[in-house]
Amino acid sequence: MNRDRLKKLAGDKRFIPGIYNYCDRWCERCPQTSRCLNFSISEEEFSGPEMRDIRNEAFWNKISGIFGETLELLRENAKKWGIELETLGSIGDIEDIKAKDVAVENHLLCRAAKRYSEWVEDWFKGRETLFFEMAAAAREGVSIEEAIEVIRWYQYFIAAKAMRAIRGKMEEEEEERADEFPSDSDGSAKIALIAIDRSIAAWAVIEHYISDCNKEVMDVITFLDGLRLAVEETFPNARSFIRPGFDRIDLNGSS
Ligand code: SF4
Repeated sequence: MNRDRLKKLAGDKRFIPGIYNYCDRWCERCPQTSRCLNFSISEEEFSGPEMRDIRNEAFWNKISGIFGETLELLRENAKKWGIELETLGSIGDIEDIKAKDVAVENHLLCRAAKRYSEWVEDWFKGRETLFFEMAAAAREGVSIEEAIEVIRWYQYFIAAKAMRAIRGKMEEEEEERADEFPSDSDGSAKIALIAIDRSIAAWAVIEHYISDCNKEVMDVITFLDGLRLAVEETFPNARSFIRPGFDRIDLNGSS
């Protein structure tokens, strides 16, 4: 995609600015694909089975093409705003980034979210074939296959978003940001919470079908529920964060 096309797409009013920042990246199930710049770019660039194949060299060539064009645009804009991109990353900044990486990794919430993803991995080992062989009888419209799909989709996503939220919170506290602006950490925590809620529901569907491992499933649900409470406690404003394109402002106070 050339720079002019990228610029034109970026200025298209049909797209909701920043919608992809707080979504769950599950485009196949997204109700806002037509309003998402990210989705449009990938559709335009990677439609057709060959182009979708991440092993295909063309895919990576396209990626680096888009990256190059974006970098150019970034440089152009930086120049306009009088920013020297090359001088932004000093040694001090790099040390600071490294220290934050360690602090984020070690944060209780992030460790718990990671523990959940490993737990899911262990739990599914050896069971997946059995599940897929079971009849897809539906419970409240959700089949066991769909429940597994949901759990697997969010298995690592929760930890990734928890880490982003914790990191954002650290930076916001450092910068002593004013409260009236919606914070990125709350947005990340909100999508982590949504993923947790959906995972809990999906585990409940599993529990309904698989009677011989109810105890284990209940343990996972209990763990996830604890994680949910911990995220809510750490980010008390996360639930009310308005994600562009997904949440509406409710005049009664909730979203
Ligand atoms: S907003 Fe929807 S279409 Fe866009 S990246 Fe997120 S999930 Fe995909």
